[in-house]
Amino acid sequence: MISYTELGLVNTVELFKKAVSGGYALPAYNFNNLEQLQAIIQACAETKSPVILQVSSGARKYANQNLLKNMAKGAVEYANELGCNVPIVLHLDHGDSFELCKDCIETGFSSVMIDGSHYSYEENVALTKKVVEFAHSRKDYVSVEGELGVLAGVEDDVSSEHSHYTQPEEVEDFVKRTGVDSLAISIGTSHGRTKFKPEQCTRDPNGVLIPPPLRFDILEAIEKRIPGFPIVLHGASSVPVEYVQMVEKYGGKLSDSVGIPEEQLRRAANSAVCKINIDSDGRLAMTALIRKVLAEIPDEFDPRKILGPAREELKKLYAHKNINVLGSANRV
Ligand SMILES: [Zn+2]
Repeated sequence: MISYTELGLVNTVELFKKAVSGGYALPAYNFNNLEQLQAIIQACAETKSPVILQVSSGARKYANQNLLKNMAKGAVEYANELGCNVPIVLHLDHGDSFELCKDCIETGFSSVMIDGSHYSYEENVALTKKVVEFAHSRKDYVSVEGELGVLAGVEDDVSSEHSHYTQPEEVEDFVKRTGVDSLAISIGTSHGRTKFKPEQCTRDPNGVLIPPPLRFDILEAIEKRIPGFPIVLHGASSVPVEYVQMVEKYGGKLSDSVGIPEEQLRRAANSAVCKINIDSDGRLAMTALIRKVLAEIPDEFDPRKILGPAREELKKLYAHKNINVLGSANRV
């Protein structure tokens, strides 16, 4: 057993307090390989942004739990080496059982999400409360994120055909009875790169899909009921058209891609939303650059030359998000 403080990590409590009062959101970037982690830490050290490193159960299976934990420890040392001691959280994304959360907490995670949103309300309360009681009783307090409402879309092991919005009248009771530190809500974001069906969207003159706006009315109703309580948005990638086009230019096929416009996320980051999850945009940036290199330099076979440009692009993307979308730059 190991506690996150031994790895140099922090939980989300103080970071969220500052983010809510400062009107910005922390980036939560998923990682499961070296290049992604390098890009995240380089961008966050350069822009002086605290960061939440997210690991999904899919990432644990792909990369091995022990390796990921030690990579997070290495990330703390790497940020120091880069000259910016950014606070780093290691967070389990979409924990689906008490056992998984417990295992992560006992092996160095500083924060976990227990996603009981697919259960009945009462079952969600009971499961979330059980995780909170375990996480908060540790010598080093581990923070817990719960979820109310269901997001559509597919992400690793999480998928749902249908979404339903968070009901504002449930949030107060849920937060009080479970003791969670933050709450993921559903106001129209969605997992994956096809966040909406074309028939839910309009099109601009170039034929690019324009998604329906986020339900800020629901967010405001939630904020009224639990003022200042940290809110989390999942499925908040913007799915930049330039990456989709680059992937398609070099042989890929990503039809009907559509994300959440960045100006809407900026508006959300100004509110009690203090954690914004971005995964698909990183996947797109990497895929686009890998395809470009492979197409333009057909005799290249050094993985470093193939993944290096993708890593550079990822770093640019994350720095852009921190500075222009989340407002988390210069908050260290
Ligand atoms: Zn999610």
